[in-house]
Amino acid sequence: MSIAWTPAIPIGGQNRYTAAMRISDIITSRHPVFSFEFFPPKTDMDADALFETARTLRTLEPDFISVTWGAGGGTRRKTLEITTSIKKKLNVETMSHLTCVGVSRMELDSILDEIRELGLENVLALRGDPPRGETDFVPHPEGLSHARELVEHIRSRWSFCLGVAGYPEGHPEVPDLERDLMFLKQKVDAGADFVTTQLFFDNSAYFRFVESARAIGISVPIIPGIMPVTNVKQIKRFTETCGATIPVRLSEQLEQLQEDREAVVEYGIEYATGQCEELLAHGAPGIHFYTLNRSHSTFQILSRLRGASYGARKSPGQAAQDRQTEAR
Ligand code: FAD
Repeated sequence: MSIAWTPAIPIGGQNRYTAAMRISDIITSRHPVFSFEFFPPKTDMDADALFETARTLRTLEPDFISVTWGAGGGTRRKTLEITTSIKKKLNVETMSHLTCVGVSRMELDSILDEIRELGLENVLALRGDPPRGETDFVPHPEGLSHARELVEHIRSRWSFCLGVAGYPEGHPEVPDLERDLMFLKQKVDAGADFVTTQLFFDNSAYFRFVESARAIGISVPIIPGIMPVTNVKQIKRFTETCGATIPVRLSEQLEQLQEDREAVVEYGIEYATGQCEELLAHGAPGIHFYTLNRSHSTFQILSRLRGASYGARKSPGQAAQDRQTEAR
């Protein structure tokens, strides 16, 4: 699939990304760092919509954009295509996610060579989830079992800047937080440069997580992952899967508002903005937004965080229309 695209929008007349940049260097040189996560589109129409979202969010000058690796690896081509297109055409640094699901070491080698040839500099090294319909992760017979092994494997031959996943409330397969944190330390000791967290709604979970991580010698930046609530059923489904808790205050508000989809979106923006403000005020290196390929909520939150007037550029009619789209 080729993506039709119009020329990159010049932002402030400056090209901040003339050369590939390592996210670790971005984090060192800027504060706070804001990033967006997209998933690869299924159809050409979805691809157009995704680039529209990316183009809108680009106006907020994100520090990087990451693109997920489809569960089961089925969207590999699209992940690399989108990651490269965004970098080249939108002129934003990018990061491709990569999982161990269903691939041998040899296949991983060819993927990693391809990522390097595409000029991509950053990789989020993950084990991945079992394919849909399966409950346990079964490694490929000639593949890798844990993200730590992937980090080690990449470090043996490639020089990418590497991120790994962290779980402030623990990973669902290992409810023992201390044990899960030891596995995170193994990933970092194997060569990860930074950690991006699973979504959470309770900031105290992130603060405890960072404190515990520092206490056992994990010193790399830990970027909190934030997902604005836009749909009550969807957020319940996500949190059940990933093990994040919904605080009582948020849960009660969502109960009250759930029939009014636009009100849910508005409250989601308000809640996430408050979360981000507190995280940044208490030293988080930045925010990674799980956008679900939608722009409205993330746009509003980041505009408010930056204290900029970007949000006001939209007409009231356009803003209402965007809220309706997001609520779908
Ligand atoms: P690991 O770090 O390998 O951990 C997996 C489980 O194994 C954990 O329970 C851990 O405690 C345990 N463990 C680790 N090491 C050992 C060991 N030596 N012995 C025993 N147990 C061990 N999924 C996708 O499919 N595509 C994506 O693009 C994607 N992007 C993500 C981005 C972020 C920021 C996050 C937080 C998650 C993402 N995921 C993605 C989901 C992720 O793949 C799942 O959470 C997966 O179940 C675990 O991946 P991991 O890299 O954390 O695995």
